[in-house]
Amino acid sequence: MDICLTVEKELEKVLSKFTALREHTQRALGDIATSVDNIKKEISEVPADHEVSATQSMVLSQSLRRVRDTVSRLSTEHKDLHSTVSRVGKAIDRNFKSDFSSITTAGAFEGDEKQKILNKVVCEHFLRQGMLDIAEALNEEADLNLEESRKEPFLELHRILEALKEKNLEPALKWAESNRSKLMAQNSSLEFKLHRLQFISLIRQGQSKQMVALMYSKNFAPFASQHAKDLQVLMGSLLYLHQDIEKSPYAYLFEPIYWAEICDVFTRDACSLMGLSVESPLTVSMRAGCIALPPLLSIRQVMQQRHCTSVWTAKDELPVEIDLGSEYHYHSMFACPILRQQSSDSNPPMRLICGHVISQDALNKLTNGTKVKCPYCPMEQIPADAKRIYF
Ligand SMILES: [Zn+2]
Repeated sequence: MDICLTVEKELEKVLSKFTALREHTQRALGDIATSVDNIKKEISEVPADHEVSATQSMVLSQSLRRVRDTVSRLSTEHKDLHSTVSRVGKAIDRNFKSDFSSITTAGAFEGDEKQKILNKVVCEHFLRQGMLDIAEALNEEADLNLEESRKEPFLELHRILEALKEKNLEPALKWAESNRSKLMAQNSSLEFKLHRLQFISLIRQGQSKQMVALMYSKNFAPFASQHAKDLQVLMGSLLYLHQDIEKSPYAYLFEPIYWAEICDVFTRDACSLMGLSVESPLTVSMRAGCIALPPLLSIRQVMQQRHCTSVWTAKDELPVEIDLGSEYHYHSMFACPILRQQSSDSNPPMRLICGHVISQDALNKLTNGTKVKCPYCPMEQIPADAKRIYF
């Protein structure tokens, strides 16, 4: 943050100089333009056969000199600005590290296969953001051959979201209805919330829509048990239909927050139904990288000073744990209670038949011949009976 402020200070200097110069330039040029205009006017008023007197010619040459001087002074002042501007660039170079090569994994993005995967991730990111034309262009130019079936979920999601943003509930309602059983299974209240918004739009139109609103309330039937309290509120609001409902105790129903909420609920539930993560994996990786970068850079520096850089590359993991915060916790992790190591693909957690879990490496170490004794209970068992646990 401090470094941003340092750069910002330089930037402010440039901006204030810019403003001052602009004002000054405009004033100087304005003055010259007026005096030139005056001279022009005077000349035009003089009869055609009139000879220019010595005084007049002196005034003319003086004005000419003034114009030339002012222009050259302004251009010098403008040139001076360059040094201030370049100072911003230097401040950025000085304060922000631009060389991250020391902490990248060599060859991480090398080779056709990896390039293709990277392009696919970028392409999916664009699809997810609704930048369909860019995604399509990348798909073609990078020869990704992204299948239609892979694109369709994103396109549908985007279409419905766009409609929702324009307060059109129809596409979302249609989608929610056709996926009702799956949505119910994941305990989603999406469909109810969509119907609620539709109902609210109706009652907002006042008494004329009373019958329509009442008829519409039949749509709430499947959700009655789950959302009884919300339904009571909605039905209660009908009492104020003949008055100004927007001044009633139910006025809060019309707050725009419900529309913002429905977009979030839809994105979250639809993504989880389609097996997509709510946020683009590329965005998440970028953000995680930005958080992890500063500590990694300082660790790298320390390691270089102490000449122990090999620790970095020896294993397929970071030399220190970087806490990205709870937002970035996606699944449980297992640390072996015996070896105190985090489990990995090559050293997965193993459940013994007694129910205790230790890592594969610990299991191998504890195995004695064809038997293993659980270090906790201590039940004797056959190592092959232990089952791998997947998180
Ligand atoms: Zn046990």
